[in-house]
Amino acid sequence: MRVVLLGTGTSYPDSNRVQSGILVETENTRVLLDIGSGVLHRLTQLQFDIRLLDAVFISHFHIDHCADFLPLCQSLWLSGYDRTLKLFAPPSVREWSRGVNDIAFTYLREKVLIETTLLQERHVVPLGDLSIATSPTLHGNYDTRAFRVEHGGKMLTYSSDTAPCRDIIELAEGTDILIHECNWLDGVHPEGMHTSPSELARIAEEIDPSKIVLTHVSPEIVENKDKVIEIVSRRTNAEVILGEDLMILEL
Ligand SMILES: [Zn+2]
Ligand SMILES: [Zn+2]
Repeated sequence: MRVVLLGTGTSYPDSNRVQSGILVETENTRVLLDIGSGVLHRLTQLQFDIRLLDAVFISHFHIDHCADFLPLCQSLWLSGYDRTLKLFAPPSVREWSRGVNDIAFTYLREKVLIETTLLQERHVVPLGDLSIATSPTLHGNYDTRAFRVEHGGKMLTYSSDTAPCRDIIELAEGTDILIHECNWLDGVHPEGMHTSPSELARIAEEIDPSKIVLTHVSPEIVENKDKVIEIVSRRTNAEVILGEDLMILEL
């Protein structure tokens, strides 16, 4: 399984990082986990043939996780995509879809066939040679999903947006690579929204993966990269790295 970090940034403007997106691909299955602004451009930089895309999973409907879905649909249409794109998202996809497809961009509605599946809090999706399981996260009042992807005995977990969350720790049990958000530095922040380095250190200790990749990193996290990695590494033997756009992980 090859995993490409397409976007490792947040909604703060960052010239080196676009918004959230991960490509997971095997020989015969290709899926996106989140599709924030800039992800489509990163796919073209990879020279990825979007006509091979099987499915898009959207963790939640904050703009930095879904903004490029419509540009993707337009590009698929222009590329002659002749399959049905599978879209998996929390139930709020219904209102979002009504707004964008039936009101804002009606001209796109019939151009690409989309089959939407509502992701319940705990859902297992067999897709080609991948198995993708979900859990709820802790992200304010926003109904959000974390994803665990399995292939050939290997396991990857992506937290999406969350404060420290017991459900994700349980979902990630046995994971090889944990891609976890680290949105802001230690300090006083709104409760139940995002994860700080010290909080991630405690999560890392419990999950005990072989590698931890920080994503959804704000400019202040990047500026303090060495200190952040030192903090996250305190309670784990895992290799801890800062994710970068277009970084490739093999597992
Ligand atoms: Zn969010
Ligand atoms: Zn976000």
